[in-house]
Amino acid sequence: MPKFRLRPEVCAFLVAGFVLVCLNAHFWRLLYQTVAPSGAFEWLFLASVVLVALVIFNLLFGAFAIPYVFKPVATLLLLISAAAAYFMDEYGTVIDAGLVRNIVETNAAEVRDLLTLKLGAYLLLAGAFPIYLLWRIRLEYGSLGRELLTRTVALLASVVIVVAAVLPFTNGFMSVFREQRQLLYFISPVNSLHAVYKYVAKKTSGAPHRLISLGEDARKGNAWLGRKGRSLTVIVVGETARAQNFSLNGYPRPTNPRLSEVAGLINFPLAYSCGTDTALSLPCMFSNLGRAKFDPNRAARQENLLDIVQRAGFAVRWRENQSGCKGVCVRVPTEVLVETKPHRFYEIADALDEALLRDLPERISALDRDGLFVLHMMGSHGPAYYKRYPEQFEHFKPACKEAQFSRCSRDEIVNAYDNTIVYTDHVLGELIALLQREDKAGLATALIYLSDHGESLGESNLYLHGMPYALAPEVQKHIPMLLWLSPRYQQAFAVDAGCIAARRERPVSQDNLFHSILGVLDIETRLYDAKLDIFAGCRRSYD
Ligand SMILES: [Zn+2]
Repeated sequence: MPKFRLRPEVCAFLVAGFVLVCLNAHFWRLLYQTVAPSGAFEWLFLASVVLVALVIFNLLFGAFAIPYVFKPVATLLLLISAAAAYFMDEYGTVIDAGLVRNIVETNAAEVRDLLTLKLGAYLLLAGAFPIYLLWRIRLEYGSLGRELLTRTVALLASVVIVVAAVLPFTNGFMSVFREQRQLLYFISPVNSLHAVYKYVAKKTSGAPHRLISLGEDARKGNAWLGRKGRSLTVIVVGETARAQNFSLNGYPRPTNPRLSEVAGLINFPLAYSCGTDTALSLPCMFSNLGRAKFDPNRAARQENLLDIVQRAGFAVRWRENQSGCKGVCVRVPTEVLVETKPHRFYEIADALDEALLRDLPERISALDRDGLFVLHMMGSHGPAYYKRYPEQFEHFKPACKEAQFSRCSRDEIVNAYDNTIVYTDHVLGELIALLQREDKAGLATALIYLSDHGESLGESNLYLHGMPYALAPEVQKHIPMLLWLSPRYQQAFAVDAGCIAARRERPVSQDNLFHSILGVLDIETRLYDAKLDIFAGCRRSYD
């Protein structure tokens, strides 16, 4: 049978193109829906995604274009991609470690149900047919020197093409692939390989991790013996709020009309985050590891501030109005106020943060001990800032009403963002009013608010957040942090609020949360580090 002759890089390019175009139909459909092109700019953006994907796929398939390796590996990838295409097209299935676990660990009968005629057709037409063609090709490799030279040139050319194609659409790539990250789960065969890797990594990382308990010695300090009445400490974890856009920090726009009226509110103008995205900052601020030593895997394997406070005898409660607590709240009572559908193609739900205050008085009156509540806000989650506040909070106009930043001017984007801060200001103002009423009714109350990270709003043409910390601009790391203590709380915990206020301009960070909460609540444990306690030195000695 005559064989076609092809240079290996040409063959790799053809296979890459076939997989990208024919076996990724579902991804392209979702991308098209997400971008919803309405003008030349969006179409050009889509074209640049196609180009970048093609170059990357070409590199991926070209990387193993070596004798005796290419055909078997390409065969395997074609089969996997064909099967994945079937599951995505037919069920919209996300190809992730969970799916691999289901396939590997479910019983034979369930797997049999999945083996349909249609899957056979996919495997035959999209898998077996190209594989047949592939094996009829004779790959003509050159000398080692020539192969190395061609590949080096190809690699350099690829880098140039990718950079040139991405640069004009940086914001498009950022807003589509950062905020719709789930799109990446629909790119075959990368998704399947990643899923298998994740599954194997989880399997081989030992038996289900034994949780490392922390602060087993934690107990209420001696002053608790004489303490009468109950207390409630509320930690509000903000989202994507940057310090710079709080008028409390000198922003010229009136973004804090409520909070600037609150007597005794302490604002920390120099507060910094642990990471530049939720997934890092959230577990970090509740961990004792601190930014310098923080490792999300390690944090996930050990207890955190909430476990310790709970062990010391407090009623701890997490109220979630966002995409989850990233493992922080798994061992404490949790209320999810926003519905998330992690396995479907979805946008972040449009829940407004006042949901966090609804039935909060009921939760408070149900307290039978001292309490620590955490409210996790939706805050200023982008890029659809305009969905984060009700219409009457549209103070700054015109506000961008698109999740596609390319359709708005920078001013419109900033207007929408500033409106989210005005709404956050309102929610915090309402919460403090509620805590003031509770204080009058006999409950000692306190509030600590801090954002998880900041946001870029077009400075140096950057938007959103998530840059590696060392490279991230100041605006992604500089966060608002606020403290409010009711008169009864200051009395009960012997805190000198004036002393803290006098030190407010010292730099603080999310590293301070762990030790400050242990400190103010007078919980004794060896883990406590007074150097990181913002209350240390501002407490009158208990007598
Ligand atoms: Zn975040």
